Amino acid sequence: MNSHPVNASPEQILIVEPKADAIDLLTPLLKQHGFQVQSAFTGQRALVLAQMELPNAILLDFEMPDLNGYRICERLKASPQTRDIPILLLGTEQSGWDKVKAFKMGCADCITKPFEVEEMLARIQNQLRAYSALKLLFAQNQMLVEEIRKRQEVEQALRLSEEKFSKAFRCCPNPMTITRLSDGTHIEINETFCELTGYIPEEVVGRSAQELNLWVKGQDRDRLFKLLEQSGVVRNYEFAFRTKYGAERMALLSAEIINLRGENCLLALSHDITERVKAEEALQQANQKLQRLATVDSLTQVANRLHFDQSLRDEWCRLTKEGLPIALILCDVDYFKFYNDTYGHQAGDACLQKVARAICRALKAPNHLAARYGGEEFAIILPAIAGDEAFQIAETIRLEIERLQIPHGKSLASEFVTLSLGVASTVPKDGFSPEVLIGVADLALYEAKNQGRNCAIAETYLN
Ligand code: GH3
Ligand code: MG
Ligand code: MG
Repeated sequence: MNSHPVNASPEQILIVEPKADAIDLLTPLLKQHGFQVQSAFTGQRALVLAQMELPNAILLDFEMPDLNGYRICERLKASPQTRDIPILLLGTEQSGWDKVKAFKMGCADCITKPFEVEEMLARIQNQLRAYSALKLLFAQNQMLVEEIRKRQEVEQALRLSEEKFSKAFRCCPNPMTITRLSDGTHIEINETFCELTGYIPEEVVGRSAQELNLWVKGQDRDRLFKLLEQSGVVRNYEFAFRTKYGAERMALLSAEIINLRGENCLLALSHDITERVKAEEALQQANQKLQRLATVDSLTQVANRLHFDQSLRDEWCRLTKEGLPIALILCDVDYFKFYNDTYGHQAGDACLQKVARAICRALKAPNHLAARYGGEEFAIILPAIAGDEAFQIAETIRLEIERLQIPHGKSLASEFVTLSLGVASTVPKDGFSPEVLIGVADLALYEAKNQGRNCAIAETYLN
């Protein structure tokens, strides 16, 4: 079958007839019935026209002058262009034609002349219907063939991409898994996953992460699935997992919901970040230690001078903006040189540690900062505290030191170690520095020493 287009009317009939009168008779008759008509007086002309016009049916007289009906039929059947065009062979009883032979050669019908017009038309219609059905069938067949070809192409492309994916999955240097979304069971895992977790594939496939006790924290799992529910994709999700041998490690996971053979699955790729996390933690600890070393006095464990200076500046600025008061206490151990001379420097160090702890005990609020100001001197910053209250705190500290009852045989103020305290308070103002506050506290401390030591003196001043 050749590829004739399925053409709506008018259908074309080729009349191959040597006698002009016969053509003149048939042509108007066929035209009346809506056909287009072409005619040929010779066999050769008929073959040319058939090729050119591709008619829907050929009425072929058996007795043509140049070629007989069989020859013309043979030639038409030999060409792929014309071989399916129905040929209705016309002949008389005297033509000496063999209808069986004609049918065997592929003629669609044989009509004996003289013919009945109605019968002739009915036979032509029959052949046209059959031919048009054949063409339709062929067109459908062509479409099916094309569809199958396209499907095969898609299948081939899919196979190739599956092969590529499968190779990438297997050889990926990161752990990869495919799990069933409905019950979390593993469908596929790669070699790196096994290396990292210590499992062999048989122990993992068909079992879920929960069954394998892979999740260290249940909430990590719940949060992951909540995120997946929201967007179907998760990137760089940090979680803790447990290996077959119980070791806990950290991983970063990227996962996506995919459809695998009609089933919703989770394709996940992880990255072992245990060493990185450990390094980060160590760095953080080192930083904290460094930070502490930079801000804490190593002997007494209260803030060092550097931290004191910074904190006083910060609080001064903050309280200036807020319009709140600030108080400062400077304390100094009485006759400490004699203490060292009597009990030794190490005992002196231990004494300073006890004094520092006692000062801290006397401070109640977390923003009250005790610092080692230098030697046997301590300073306390009291933000948002006015003069009276600051004096009370200084007294509390003094009594707390007395309560320690650290013997001091050479002190001229008491039989125990005592403190002298100078208290200064003000409402900080823009343009004034905290140095004045320190100076006033120092003066108060000097006054306390003058008044016999083991006492607190308070000074309030206005900027
Ligand atoms: P005052 O009552 O007038 O304050 O008399 P003081 O003897 O305490 O004052 P002075 O300034 O004469 O002596 C302070 C002493 O504190 C001298 C120094 O050896 C001692 N001192 C300073 N820092 C430390 C330290 O870190 N450890 C020890 N053990 N002693 C220290
Ligand atoms: Mg001193
Ligand atoms: Mg002293």
